[in-house]
Amino acid sequence: MKSIEELLSQGLSRRDGLKLSGLALGGLALGRTAGAMCDPPTEPCYPTALDTQRYTYFENLETMDFTKDPLPAVEPNEMRITFMGSCIPPVRRAQAMMSVFVEVGGGNGKAADQFVFDCGSGVCANYGAMGVGFARMDKVFLNHLHGDHMADLTHIYCFGPSGDRKSPLYVWGQGPSDVPTPRPPYQYYDDGVRAFCEHLREACRWHTESFSFQTTSYRNYRRPTRQSWGLPCDPVPVGDDPSDDAYAMIPIELNWRKVGGVAYHNQATGVKITHFPVIHCRKGALGFKLEWNGLSMIYTSDTKPEYHTINQAINGGKGVDVLIHEMVVPAEVWAMQNMHLDAPGKGPLWDKTVQALTAVQDSSHTPQGAFGYLLSQINPRPRLTVATHFPVSDATVACALESVRKHCPDITEVGPQLTWSFDLMVIRVFAGDPKPEILQRRANVLDFGFSPVVRPTPYPAKAPKYHTADGSADPYAQIDLSTAILAGDTTYCRSGY
Ligand SMILES: [Zn+2]
Ligand SMILES: [Zn+2]
Repeated sequence: MKSIEELLSQGLSRRDGLKLSGLALGGLALGRTAGAMCDPPTEPCYPTALDTQRYTYFENLETMDFTKDPLPAVEPNEMRITFMGSCIPPVRRAQAMMSVFVEVGGGNGKAADQFVFDCGSGVCANYGAMGVGFARMDKVFLNHLHGDHMADLTHIYCFGPSGDRKSPLYVWGQGPSDVPTPRPPYQYYDDGVRAFCEHLREACRWHTESFSFQTTSYRNYRRPTRQSWGLPCDPVPVGDDPSDDAYAMIPIELNWRKVGGVAYHNQATGVKITHFPVIHCRKGALGFKLEWNGLSMIYTSDTKPEYHTINQAINGGKGVDVLIHEMVVPAEVWAMQNMHLDAPGKGPLWDKTVQALTAVQDSSHTPQGAFGYLLSQINPRPRLTVATHFPVSDATVACALESVRKHCPDITEVGPQLTWSFDLMVIRVFAGDPKPEILQRRANVLDFGFSPVVRPTPYPAKAPKYHTADGSADPYAQIDLSTAILAGDTTYCRSGY
């Protein structure tokens, strides 16, 4: 049996030493036990309101400048992962809801292919600030259909055609959950991504018609096929939009039960995206794995800790370069933050709040310690693991690191092995033999900048839906001008000044 002094000499804190010493006295083997894993948080785990005002790790990252055109080149061997949103609801000013943008190099400084994984509320501001136009946001993968993962799809869909996306919007997501309603007469809702797109398309009718005085398609659009994109189904728009129109929404519904099903395998760019089921709130949630040029990344999005993720990350013994996995703060910390407390509260309101948040955790999310456990089970370990969907601050991250370390004692800091995402964090992964170091960067952007540069399409535009007899656009085709005050010598200048 080891004395407290011996334990302390091994680098353990006095508190840990006392704990382990106590366990040893009780006749238990020294090492990991359920008791040691589940200890209540130590003092630094109680973030105060003031603590939450900074995430120093991110502040101190080397910057990349996205304020100028052209933007920093995507290297030919680079897979670039940018967090356009990174938080769990409720939305906070510091972090938008979830979105991960993945690009792969094309050889001319530009991306050859790119993907939006989830697009929760507020993320379009970050895409705009990063100089990503709508044309590059035309492949959207929704891990599940919670609002914090799809709310900005409305914005992407509606405003894409007014920007530079003059081609359809493709949306990958889950098939119907097949969960019956809880009481008779039992009903099965069509809650899959196809039905979602059908209804969203119709809900946006006023918007899409009104903006169809502008061009929404061009002549030489090369429609992707099931073969060219390696899709599990034919790419067919919902509703009656032509399949080359920017207001065509094309769902690619995935069988969420499949492990390793191919969602996309582009013959030209070589990007392959597969999916696997994760456990989140209701059946149907998906994790995605993207592979390209010997590089790989997994984005599980929201999930309870589960085995598919471990197997996918082990990747047949090859491991993955980047694992992006959610993490949730302990219910107690969450409640303290929501209630603006500096220490755990007391009384019925406190109890109810903790209970409610624990229920959310249990149905849907991965606690800090479970995240550490998962990571400890993945061999070889991902080169970089990123915790996401997490309200970061110096204090919440310090607390989370402590929980992870209980399972992965070798991870001593936020750094090259394990990091917490934040909006505008850029992760640069390079192919090579050996593979170069993975870089973590902080994007420098303009808060007051306008949208990305919109370049006219190089192809001849088709006439807009609402146009005059000579084929030109008629912005007045849908309005009644009888009470309008028109520009003129006695009123105001059309130039706008
Ligand atoms: Zn969710
Ligand atoms: Zn979520």
